[in-house]
Amino acid sequence: MPPIVSNLRAVERRISVALQCAAREVTLVAVSKQRSPEDIRAVVAAGCRNIGESYVQEALPKIAALAGAGATWHYIGHLQTNKARDVAANFDWVHGVDRARVAVALDRARPENLPALEVCVQVNISGEATKGGVAPDEALQLCREVSALPRLRLRGLMGMAEPTTDAALQRVQFARLRAVFDEARAAGLALDTLSMGMSDDFEGAIEEGSTMVRIGTAIFGERHGKEAA
Ligand SMILES: *Cc1c(COP(=O)(O)O)cnc(C)c1O
Repeated sequence: MPPIVSNLRAVERRISVALQCAAREVTLVAVSKQRSPEDIRAVVAAGCRNIGESYVQEALPKIAALAGAGATWHYIGHLQTNKARDVAANFDWVHGVDRARVAVALDRARPENLPALEVCVQVNISGEATKGGVAPDEALQLCREVSALPRLRLRGLMGMAEPTTDAALQRVQFARLRAVFDEARAAGLALDTLSMGMSDDFEGAIEEGSTMVRIGTAIFGERHGKEAA
């Protein structure tokens, strides 16, 4: 078995263990930034069809190379209005919507021949200035604005915990996103996706209620070179 596939199987096992007996499923998004189309093809062939990319220019040639392979593409990076057209035309999901202006731009740009774009509103749960996302107390308002746009389908919330070895602190931050999620559902919004958890913290995120984890390093190995937040 190629190393990427054995890593994938190990991550899938860890997800099952973290879920214990919870009557819930967790969708695994394999984050393939800086990885080749061949690497992506290997995980898709092994049954992991949800693929995450953070940089539009890097992702477009890979999406073209994998046309017909059956992958579902998630845009998980920071989103600028001037990239909305490329994202809306090429991805199935967007996890980083954190302002109404970006949501409106995606809605306008989503091609008519495609189904509505699946959207998660990004919430800043760590309070770090370098992270994107709306403040937790503004999330409900943005969710309402997104859900009113016809070419977008609001699915849920996305958040990132602070990179720290303090797992308890990360759990507090994940619980914060879960609380906003519960509040939005109580307010009548039909959310079904809580996108939280990465290679270093996904078990804690699952224990706090995650339904979708975004995992790169634990599947593909360490990335090299510079990264933006
Ligand atoms: C890169 C990235 C991930 C995956 O990170 P790993 O630590 O490699 O698992 C998840 N979510 C977002 C938003 C990312 O940019």
